[in-house]
This record gives sequence, structure tokens and C-alpha cells, in this order.
Amino acid sequence: MVRHITFFVASIFTFIAVGVPAENETAAADAQLLAARRLLIPVVGVTRASLRDSFDERRGASRHEAIDIPAPRGTPVVAAGDGRVVKLFKSVPGGLTVYQFDTDEKFAYYYAHLDRYAEGLGEGKLLKRGERLGYVGSTGNASSAAPHLHFAIFRLGPDTSWWKGAPINPYPFLNDAMR
Ligand SMILES: [Zn+2]
Repeated sequence: MVRHITFFVASIFTFIAVGVPAENETAAADAQLLAARRLLIPVVGVTRASLRDSFDERRGASRHEAIDIPAPRGTPVVAAGDGRVVKLFKSVPGGLTVYQFDTDEKFAYYYAHLDRYAEGLGEGKLLKRGERLGYVGSTGNASSAAPHLHFAIFRLGPDTSWWKGAPINPYPFLNDAMR
């Protein structure tokens, strides 16, 4: 019995030892790439000092895996980085949303609860970092009393599907706009 437990524990440690470094390497590589993109805080007028990291918070039964950026309704939302709009989508939780791929199609940037899209925005449009894509709102499951942008980053899989990817906390990578 004791020998079985020892083996079991040893197996777990082996699994951890083998499994974690590869994941850490991916995370470190992602972090390096995202830091190099100098992503902008995607809501005009919001500063780094006022950002709050809500990535790990619970939202109902699941982890938030995004950050919420509160701002008055109608505040312009801008592209965090360069890249193409791949999908404009209306969902029950997200309301009016934008999915944008970065120029290497390695990451997706997701903007939700928009009040409306910027004029001329369409699927396939290449946005430059800081270019307007919509306006802060509370569409979807956001409280109408607390308009905010829900912003997420996903690492895309090999099939680069806009609707799936591994969530990455945007908080460390968002920078103040240059004045
Ligand atoms: Zn949110």
C-alpha cells in the first residue's frame, strides 16, 4: 500500500516536472511577443494607473479570463495593436463584439459589450494600433448602470479559429497612450 502511494506521488512529481517547463516556455515566449507589440489600453483616456486586474476573478461558474475597463458610455474603443478584424459578432454574453487577429495571426484580441461599432468597421479591415473600432457600452450581459469594455487576449491554435484559443492575461501588456 505504502509502496503504491509512493509510486503515485512520484508519478505526479514526474508529471509536474515534465509538464510545466514546456508550458512555461510558451508563456514566456508569448509574454515576450506581447510586450514587444507595446499594446495600448484600448479605451481612450484610461490610464495604466487606473487599470484593475480582474483576470482571475470568478464570473458565475467560470474564471473571468479578461479585464474589464470601466468608462462612460460612448467613450471611443481603439485597437490595442495592429491587425485585421476577423469577426464582428453579436453574442448573448458579449453583446456587440470585435475579434481582431494580430499581424502574425498568433493572438486574437477580443472587445466586448460595445455600444456600437465605429463607422466603416468591417470584417477584413486592417486596423492600426490606436485606430477606433467602436464605443464603450453595456450590450450583452453587462449592467446598463456600469458600461465597460471587456477585453481579452487569446493565443490562437494551429487552426486559427476566431472563436477558440488559450486565454492570456492582458493586464501586464497594456500601455498608456503616448501624449
Ligand atoms: Zn468582463
